[in-house]
Amino acid sequence: MRIPFIAGNWKMYKTTAEAEAFAVEFKKSYHDTDVKAAICAPFTQLATLAKIFEGTGIGVGAQNVYFEKEGAYTGEISVDMLKEIGVDYCIVGHSERRQYFNETDETVNLKLKALLQADITPILCVGEVLSEREDGREEQVVSSQIKKALEGLTVERVCSLVIAYEPVWAIGTGKTATPQQANQMCGCIRQTLENLYDDVLSDRVVIQYGGSVKPENATDIMNMEEIDGALVGGASLDVVKFMEIINF
Ligand code: PEP
Repeated sequence: MRIPFIAGNWKMYKTTAEAEAFAVEFKKSYHDTDVKAAICAPFTQLATLAKIFEGTGIGVGAQNVYFEKEGAYTGEISVDMLKEIGVDYCIVGHSERRQYFNETDETVNLKLKALLQADITPILCVGEVLSEREDGREEQVVSSQIKKALEGLTVERVCSLVIAYEPVWAIGTGKTATPQQANQMCGCIRQTLENLYDDVLSDRVVIQYGGSVKPENATDIMNMEEIDGALVGGASLDVVKFMEIINF
C-alpha cells in the first residue's frame, strides 16, 4: 500500500524569515490528511524548517548533497551534515542540476548510495527533454536514467526510494503532461524497477509526477493508478496553493 506523498521544491526561493512564516502557517493548515508532505528547501532554511516541523509529520528535504563523507570540497554539504539537522529527504538529479551544474547519471548514483546508507530518502528525478519525446524516445531515456542511477544498489536499499518523473519540458513552463502521459511514464518506471529487481519492490516504490502541478490539475494527476504523489515547484511557495494540492 503506497501512501500518497506530495513534496514541495522551493528551488532558490525564500529567505529564512520567509521560510519561517511559511512553515508556521503550513503547520497550522496541515492536518486531517492521509497524504505525506515535505518541503525541499535551500540549505540555509533546513534547520529552521526541521525545528518548526518537529512532531508534525511534515518532512524536510534538501535539494542536493555531495557524495563524499568529508574533505577538501569547498562549497559542498555532506549527508552527515544533513542528517545532523534533521533532514529526511534529498532531491537528486533534478533537471536544473543536470542542466546547469553538471549533474550526471554517475554522480546521481554516488549521491543515492551515500544518502541511502545514511537513511535519508532520496527523491530521484528523471525525465526526458522535449526533443527526446518528439523522437519517441522518452521511455528509453527514462529507463536508462533509472538503470544508471541504481547501479550497484541492492533491493533492500532501494525500497525506501522515491522517484519523481519530471518531463523537462513541463518544469516551470506552465505545460503539464496529460495525466495519461504521466501515468504511462510512471508505469514505465515501475516496469523498469520490476526488470531490475522484482515486482514486490516495483509495487512498493513511491513514484511522483512533477511539472507545473497546481491546484487545478492535481486531482486528475493524483487519480492516475501509477502516480503516487507530486513534486511541486512554483505552487509549493504558497501555503494555500500547496495545501489545495495536498487536499486534492
Ligand atoms: C520542480 O521544480 O521539480 C517542478 C516540477 O517545478 P514546477 O512545479 O514549477 O514545474
